[in-house]
Amino acid sequence: MRVNLLDFDANTLAGFCAEIGEKPFRARQLLRWIHRSGEADFAGMSDLAKEMRDKLSATAVIEPPRVIGDHTAADGTRKWLLSVGAGNGIETVFIPETSRGTLCISSQVGCALACTFCATGRQGFNRNLTVAEIIGQLWWANKALAEEPDDESVTESGEIAYSRKGVRYASCSERGRAISNVVMMGMGEPLANFENVVTALDLMLDDNAYGLSRRRVTVSTSGLVPAMDRLRERCPVALAVSLHAPNDALRDQLVPINKKYPISELLAACQRYLRSAPRDFITFEYVMLDGVNDSVAHARELVQRVRHTPCKFNLIPFNPFPDSGYQRSSPEAVRLFRDVLMQAGLVTTVRKTRGDDIAAACGQLAGQVLDKTRRASRRMMEAAG
Ligand code: SAH
Ligand code: SF4
Repeated sequence: MRVNLLDFDANTLAGFCAEIGEKPFRARQLLRWIHRSGEADFAGMSDLAKEMRDKLSATAVIEPPRVIGDHTAADGTRKWLLSVGAGNGIETVFIPETSRGTLCISSQVGCALACTFCATGRQGFNRNLTVAEIIGQLWWANKALAEEPDDESVTESGEIAYSRKGVRYASCSERGRAISNVVMMGMGEPLANFENVVTALDLMLDDNAYGLSRRRVTVSTSGLVPAMDRLRERCPVALAVSLHAPNDALRDQLVPINKKYPISELLAACQRYLRSAPRDFITFEYVMLDGVNDSVAHARELVQRVRHTPCKFNLIPFNPFPDSGYQRSSPEAVRLFRDVLMQAGLVTTVRKTRGDDIAAACGQLAGQVLDKTRRASRRMMEAAG
């Protein structure tokens, strides 16, 4: 069987080149062709000798997941549905903002951690994504966005400025690179698919591939403490932690993995992580669930809880999905909650809901998962009596 070169980072690609009798610098060239130029056809790699291209065609492929859906919301948010075989689909979302373009990518088909407010968690776990399927999301989005026309405008000082979907490039050399940030906040728990995610992160950071800095790549975790320590050692990118509650009693209910790694252990792991992190704070995500975790008393308790951990807060208004059993907090409750955190000196942002019309928001990504555990359908049947 031919190997898929999208599964390889710089090291494994160098090993592969050695195996087929090619020099190590060929691996660098290949990496650039595959990831920088988005080339999937060896025949198009014009500076490789014909003999090498033939060898590559005989032993390897470049095979990203297939795109089966592509939707753009009124606010410019774009969502792709990618097929990963056996009827399973995963979702990737691009969120353009004025000064940056963020790609939100998935790490698993479904998720085993069963957070009660999360559509992906409701599906149960199906399988880990391969490196090719993880990096393939960036590969596709990069390619698709590069095909969109640039907008040209003239600045006040008379220079020509280029932007795409409202994202302004800092310089001409950045033209065509709409993706400035990657967040692993799509479907799945990235740290539960550790090796594949770390290899994909290596590619995101590699100058011959996507060349993103560690501060512009964020892993979001529900709090797998041992894996947070491993990530710190292997590839300390920016870290977001899904906290969602100020005490264990409540967090046990919302994020069941808390029973294994309670808040005190999680915060200790955050403090260890900060010694190697590219930013000097952890981002805590906090989903705002009406009447569940959104009172002023909860906010005060939270302030006390995190007082020894340098952090910022990102409040996420709950994104509803059918039969979730939760409701989004009122804007007033969100404001009061935010004020308590801000008054305590904690930088707090409220996440804007983007791509509403295409269900592209946090926790709504559900893809088309053929659920092995059939958890979702079982629950629906139980509900229907
Ligand atoms: N598994 C990882 C990353 C994916 S989820 C994690 O849990 O951190 C990305 C963020 O969206 C997490 O903070 C998650 O708790 C939050 N989220 C999940 N479902 C949501 C929903 N329905 N509404 C708002 N945020 C949600
Ligand atoms: Fe999994 Fe994250 Fe959803 Fe929890 S919130 S079920 S960890 S994807």
